[in-house]
Formats: sequence, structure tokens, C-alpha cells
Amino acid sequence: MCIFCDIIAGKIPSTKVNENDDFLAFEDINKIAPIHVLIIPKEHIPSFNEMPAQKMAQMSEFIKETAQKLGVFEDGYRLITNINDNGGQEVKHLHFHLVGGAKLKWPKLV
Ligand code: AMP
Repeated sequence: MCIFCDIIAGKIPSTKVNENDDFLAFEDINKIAPIHVLIIPKEHIPSFNEMPAQKMAQMSEFIKETAQKLGVFEDGYRLITNINDNGGQEVKHLHFHLVGGAKLKWPKLV
């Protein structure tokens, strides 16, 4: 049971901001910035560690397209992917947090 697979299947509602056959971008339910979108592959891939390079190349293009749709491509934004326990990954389905819409700070992490 994976919450993001349920979002892809439409069993859990989400606010979609971009989608194609292979990837989905939707708003994070608990925003940490004015713009906070999660970008996921529709295939269940547990984390960045398991992401094949060729699919990552396609995902990079989808992420950039999403940043353009959100209007943050030129001014800037931040991508974060948490990996496994020390990385703080709560949902074990690869996702990139795209955050922006403000001048972001760079906090201490430990
Ligand atoms: P992470 O800690 O990197 O695994 O991030 C998981 C993210 O998923 C968090 O930012 C949550 O707010 C977000 N999240 C969890 N459930 C939902 C949901 N149903 N819809 C949108 N975002 C969610």
C-alpha cells in the first residue's frame, strides 16, 4: 500500500499541476513554501537510489516543464528528494519536492 500510488490511481484526491503518461506533479498537502509541489514517477520506484538513469533524464525534463508551468523557471526554485531514513523520507515512492515562490533560505540541517 503506497499513498502516492493511490493518488496516481485517483483513490486519494490531489491537486494536479502537471501530468503525462509517466509522471505526475501535484500540490503537497503540507506546504513549506508558497509553491510546494511533489513530482513523482507513475511507476512505483522506492527512492532516487532505484531510479534508472534513462527514466531520470525523462523526469528531469518533466520537472523543468513543471517549473515553467508554475512560473518559477527563470526566477529560481529548489528541488529536494529525501532518501531513506537518514534522508528523512516518509513516503517510500520517489518524489521531488519543488519549492519556490519566494527567496528561499538555506537552513542548517543538523
Ligand atoms: P518526504 O518526507 O520527503 O517523504 O515527503 C512526503 C511529503 O508528502 C510530505 O511533504 C507530505 O506533506 C506529503 N504528503 C503526504 N500525503 C500527501 C497527500 N495525500 N497529498 C499531498 N501531499 C502529501
